[in-house]
Amino acid sequence: MERAGEIVQSVISGHFDLRKQQIQEAPYPNEDNQNFACSGQSSVRQHKIQERPFCRDPNSSCTGSAGQQNQRHQSKLQEIPLHDGDRQNSGSSGQSPGYTGQQNRRPQHKFQEPPQASDQQQDSSSSSMNPYAALVDCLRATWLTGKTRPVDYRRTQLEALSRFLEENETEILHALSVDMRRPPFEGYLADISVTKNEVNNALNNLCYWMKDESVDKNLATKLDCAFVRKDPFGVVLIISPFNYPFHLTLIPMVGAIAAGNCVIVKPSEQSSCSEKLLAEVLPSYLDPDTFAVVTGGPEPTTRLLENKFDYIMFTGSPRIGKIVMTAAAKHLTPLTLELGGQNPCYVDCCCNFQNAANRIVWAKFFNCGQTCLAPDYVICTIETQERLMPCLRQAIRCFYGCNPRDSPDYGRMINDKHFQRIRTLLECGRVAIGGETDECDRYIAPTVMADVKEWEPIMQQEVFGPILPIFTVRDLDEAIQYINSKERPLAAYAFSCDSKVVNRVLDCTSSGGFCGNDCMMQATLISLPFGGIGYSGFGMYHGKYGFDTFTHHRGCLSRCMGLEAINCIRYPPYNQRKLDLMISTTEVRRRSFCTLL
Ligand code: NAD
Repeated sequence: MERAGEIVQSVISGHFDLRKQQIQEAPYPNEDNQNFACSGQSSVRQHKIQERPFCRDPNSSCTGSAGQQNQRHQSKLQEIPLHDGDRQNSGSSGQSPGYTGQQNRRPQHKFQEPPQASDQQQDSSSSSMNPYAALVDCLRATWLTGKTRPVDYRRTQLEALSRFLEENETEILHALSVDMRRPPFEGYLADISVTKNEVNNALNNLCYWMKDESVDKNLATKLDCAFVRKDPFGVVLIISPFNYPFHLTLIPMVGAIAAGNCVIVKPSEQSSCSEKLLAEVLPSYLDPDTFAVVTGGPEPTTRLLENKFDYIMFTGSPRIGKIVMTAAAKHLTPLTLELGGQNPCYVDCCCNFQNAANRIVWAKFFNCGQTCLAPDYVICTIETQERLMPCLRQAIRCFYGCNPRDSPDYGRMINDKHFQRIRTLLECGRVAIGGETDECDRYIAPTVMADVKEWEPIMQQEVFGPILPIFTVRDLDEAIQYINSKERPLAAYAFSCDSKVVNRVLDCTSSGGFCGNDCMMQATLISLPFGGIGYSGFGMYHGKYGFDTFTHHRGCLSRCMGLEAINCIRYPPYNQRKLDLMISTTEVRRRSFCTLL
């Protein structure tokens, strides 16, 4: 541990230097934490604790004063000014964008790129040459001390996460605005509010979730104690995509912390301003012995994945998901993959078309179409297409005005690569609504394409942008057949006034989640599992499901030392009587159902 501590001080990336800087700002040891120091580790642990406080501002309360809160809530939906310089610097270029939101409140920290692997390091298969090996070793050493296990420790970290969200609302909304011109309403709703809900839910239920669960016993173990222990996995890696950088980094983290793990998060380099905020500010709220942010794109992530983790959660594209799964397989590391896909949206002829159009347009063009749960395509009959089209036009005009480019409520593509990809999809000439683009601004108008054919590129990939293709079929049967002929999506949607139609789509298709007569709203329910199936991934999280994902359910039996007269029936020398007794004391019998009632 001494060595690990030293390595961490000298080798690990700039975020550790950053913390040293913060030490000078708020040199307050955390008393709770000192209690967790194990005797063998105490010198290193205590040294670290003194150097690296959890709270950036020791005077700030966990909840903030009422006055502060009012101020905050008033400012939630205020315009976030978008500086041209910010926008130019953001995107996939890898440059550090300007970060004006932080300047008034704390000194500007130097943003350092993660350590780049030298050629020699890249050639080496030895983990000791890996630039992240020391970091992973250090977190694992801490995990082995048991520091993350006590409920009070987990609670402290979750409360710190909550404070990060509370105290950095403006900065988060600003970062989302710089990265994707995300409207503050959408930023607050999708990245801040849902994440706070997850933290609150975990804090409310943590004790209950962590409890050992007793299980049914057989005759042979009737006098013993049988239970499921909720064990943390150990060191967990969370890799997130660009589109909801705070939501998709922090919600998995809530589950991982609640379950008692050490966590490394690797946000997307594409939403560079959000990545910078996560890398520079979040660590100052959390315990650096158990938590770290690693930044960068494919190359650093590849090097990071060479290390052995105890659990990996990846959210992103199926293509990169396969790479992550291959890397995990090398260490037999269990993982969750939250991937994308083409979410079908069936619209029935028996429908309130304007209501359906409003809901589809909202979900499709939220965050400029860059949402994994967005309806990817509408599937309906040609007659329904004709009735739906004017309603879609009406909804778009109503939401974003005659010129959506001027709407403060409409976002932009994340970077040039994605802009070009979406613009190419427009070239098939089937645009019915929208279709305008502006490369300088990465603007693509909310667009609807009619009569799209199965073989056209827009139907061959996840759109992940503001284009809604309509694919026409003869009837519901053909729609179901088409949906089932494709890879299984993250979500399926069905609109109809006839509940039998909605239920038919639900019963006859397979998808990660489902919503009848709306889109995306299923994800607002913390009580529902969220995750994919097949090509859209596996595993699930949100609420208790997130805790369970990052928990090893350890089956335990604790027996008494006596009663050998009963136990001896399983010992040699064997005989038929002993076997019969063993079978009868461990047997599971079929329940007999009474058919008279
Ligand atoms: P992506 O797969 O390109 O990147 C995701 C993460 O992987 C990023 O952190 C990135 O840095 C990292 N990465 C990139 N190349 C890598 C490599 N070669 N090796 C290791 N890591 C690498 O995804 P994206 O473009 O950021 O996001 C869009 C995709 O994510 C869409 O397919 C979308 O459907 C999906 N998504 C899924 C969910 C979900 O919950 N299921 C949520 C949001 C987005």
